[in-house]
Amino acid sequence: METMQATIKKEISLEGIGLHTGSPSKLTFRPAPANTGIRFFRTDLPGHPMVPARLDFVVTTVRGTNLGLGEAKIHTVEHVLSACTGAGIDNIDVWVSAPEPPIMDGSALPFVKAILTAGIEHYPDAPKRWLHLPGEVLYQDGKAKYRAIPSDNFEIRATLIHEHPLMPEMSLTLELNREIYLREIAPARTFCFEHEVEFLKSQGLAQGGSLDNAIVIGKDRYHTNEGGLRFPDEFVRHKMLDLIGDLTLIGRPLFKMRVEAEYLGHAHNVAFAKLLREAAVKMRGKKSLEAH
Ligand SMILES: [Zn+2]
Repeated sequence: METMQATIKKEISLEGIGLHTGSPSKLTFRPAPANTGIRFFRTDLPGHPMVPARLDFVVTTVRGTNLGLGEAKIHTVEHVLSACTGAGIDNIDVWVSAPEPPIMDGSALPFVKAILTAGIEHYPDAPKRWLHLPGEVLYQDGKAKYRAIPSDNFEIRATLIHEHPLMPEMSLTLELNREIYLREIAPARTFCFEHEVEFLKSQGLAQGGSLDNAIVIGKDRYHTNEGGLRFPDEFVRHKMLDLIGDLTLIGRPLFKMRVEAEYLGHAHNVAFAKLLREAAVKMRGKKSLEAH
């Protein structure tokens, strides 16, 4: 396992439209100094305000994870963040020219590919600051159930349960590293149910949504672009992708725990991430006391 913090070697850009706003958006990944974490910058606003990709800056979790600091907001950050963690990036500046990063094909693949094309650079003298859990962390809210335990590897077991004939219960367990993330998780696209589409659009959401960037689950069939599903269980893989993105908001590399989650959603992901952060902070406090 890599022990030093990483950024990218040079800047690289992607362009497209935002999923919910439908506005054109250009995203540029830029190398960043050690210990700065992941930071978004709104390049379309005066002074290019910065919004840290941290739990404290989550403003809403409606159909995506949305960050804000003062007037500056960045919507739907989860796929970009998931790509950064999946590629093993600790520090990166993300310049976005709109309120939302481009949705691209609805997956994290274009973002990971961009990061890998730019190249990964390890700092010679900045060790990774892992998230260490002291023990089991549990979260439950209604049907949603999450659990994390310390582990030498990063493992996730995600279970998707929907009451829909085309969505049987799906479970997937993966031990994640850069290659497995790239192959098994990054390509999984976002999805929604056909009956939600009109409602979402009427709420001003999904304005940029189409079969170019989402799978729509109809009454008796999936609506996709001509390529069809990328995996038979693409849906549970995408939920895993989102979870990795939301957990990235803890601000530390995640690769030392096993997570199990059922009935995943952004609000639960973020609430669970807060519990993990609290548990790890408590442990740091205890360690520093023991050192005296
Ligand atoms: Zn998603």
